[in-house]
Amino acid sequence: MPTATQSHPSVLVVEDEPDLGRLLQLNLTPLGFEVDVAPDLGSARRALRARERVLVILDLTLPDGDGLDLCRELRQRQDYTPILILTARADETDRVVGLELGADDYLVKPFAIRELTARVKAILRRVELARSIQADPDKRLVVGGLVVDPTSRGVTVDGQRAELTATEFDLLLQLASNPGRVYTRTQLLDLVWGGSYGAQEHTVNAHVNRLRAKIEPDPGAPRYVHTVWGVGYRFHDPRAEA
Ligand code: CA
Repeated sequence: MPTATQSHPSVLVVEDEPDLGRLLQLNLTPLGFEVDVAPDLGSARRALRARERVLVILDLTLPDGDGLDLCRELRQRQDYTPILILTARADETDRVVGLELGADDYLVKPFAIRELTARVKAILRRVELARSIQADPDKRLVVGGLVVDPTSRGVTVDGQRAELTATEFDLLLQLASNPGRVYTRTQLLDLVWGGSYGAQEHTVNAHVNRLRAKIEPDPGAPRYVHTVWGVGYRFHDPRAEA
């Protein structure tokens, strides 16, 4: 007989505030998840060894250490379980460091529970989308009036061809392949420029500006490539908000 614990995808919440842990459990269970709460890093490590998780919601300030260490550990052993960071720290550095260690998104405490469930759904949708793109790398990405074709490296905006440089195309493909995901400028330098030579963060800004001028109906109020202040950029897909 299959055990009941195998029946629903499992979310691990690493959170030492019992009320918040319970609140997350109460709100995520109705979405079809089994939710375990680990109050510290030690029990989180054990819980992660015990079974596969579709998502880890990770508080950073824990009684036995820093949640960022767990994030680093998972990515170092090539475990790409999606991670949503919760932080009460006002400093933007934590968010940037978290994303650079491979976290998928972050929420700043206090947050509305609706915001949390929306982020959780968006992360899981992105994982699905990324999987389908990997399965079919030739698949065109269609977002609103924007069509990106990885095979021909062609881009059209409302049916009009946009003339992108190779770097602008690579930048757009990276962002659009992971809609909703926040990329720091350093990550984009690594992914698009191969972390090469003296490329600087302002290189990324300049390319984003040029890309916007070519694909955005109104570059001053971007529809596709959004700025995440103090952090970087994210590609906006209206479908991820449904
Ligand atoms: Ca805490």
